[in-house]
Amino acid sequence: PAALTLHDVVVRYADGTDETGATRWFTALDHVSMQALPGTMTAILGPSGSGKSTLLSVIAGLVVPTSGEVSVAGTRLDRLNENARTALRRDHVGIAFQQPNLLPSLMTTEQLTVMAHLAGASRSEMKQARIRAAELLDLVGLTDQGDRRPHQLSGGQRQRVNIARALMRHPEVLLADEPTSALDHERSRSIIELLTRVTRETGVATLMVTHDTEFADDADDVVHMRDGRIS
Ligand code: ADP
Ligand code: ADP
Repeated sequence: PAALTLHDVVVRYADGTDETGATRWFTALDHVSMQALPGTMTAILGPSGSGKSTLLSVIAGLVVPTSGEVSVAGTRLDRLNENARTALRRDHVGIAFQQPNLLPSLMTTEQLTVMAHLAGASRSEMKQARIRAAELLDLVGLTDQGDRRPHQLSGGQRQRVNIARALMRHPEVLLADEPTSALDHERSRSIIELLTRVTRETGVATLMVTHDTEFADDADDVVHMRDGRIS
């Protein structure tokens, strides 16, 4: 079964008022349907303002669709209240956005385990988290960087930490919003190859927003967005 399904999703944002004082609505997603299978990478392309970030926000449960159905890991997200959406996101959706947002004082391994720590993990749960972190740092090629702080890492390495962190809780869906926008071409290529490999090896369904059509060639599926629609 699909890791992710959207059926006829519409998102409208309130966009000011017109001359009569009535609310104006802006349609950011206009009857969008798509699905993503486990272990596949979907590239999302489209001009600025075409709805790519809104699409990811809906899947992350951060934006509630005006209408339509969204299923993540078999659960209808659009039917959940805010607390349940937050729980679904935490347990099933990994998020690696363009700015890694690593905590400056933490070492690489701690960037990955800090959420478990803050969630009050027991001793044995923390041990599990550290084992998972070590596996993931291996997977992203940072085996020897576990005790470094962000300022001691390169831009590409920080993005690798970001991706590893997003995978800590074995998500079914991984959202990568322009993961290469802050990197030069060679490092971008290396991050795309990493995402492809991580997708294959973990079986996660990866959705990657990118501006670069070259990188879309590495994806299993390509979604072109324009004016809130998939074309
Ligand atoms: P993209 O990621 O492709 O650049 P977005 O999904 O960010 O596109 O935005 C799609 C459209 O929705 C844009 O025109 C944007 O201005 C509008 N939009 C996004 N978020 C909001 C919001 N919270 N309120 C009103 N309009 C929004
Ligand atoms: P930088 O910003 O320092 O170039 P990169 O993310 O591009 O960082 O990669 C750092 C180095 O690690 C590069 O030389 C790259 O080839 C190497 N590397 C990338 N992925 C892996 C991996 N999975 N295992 C081992 N080494 C890797």
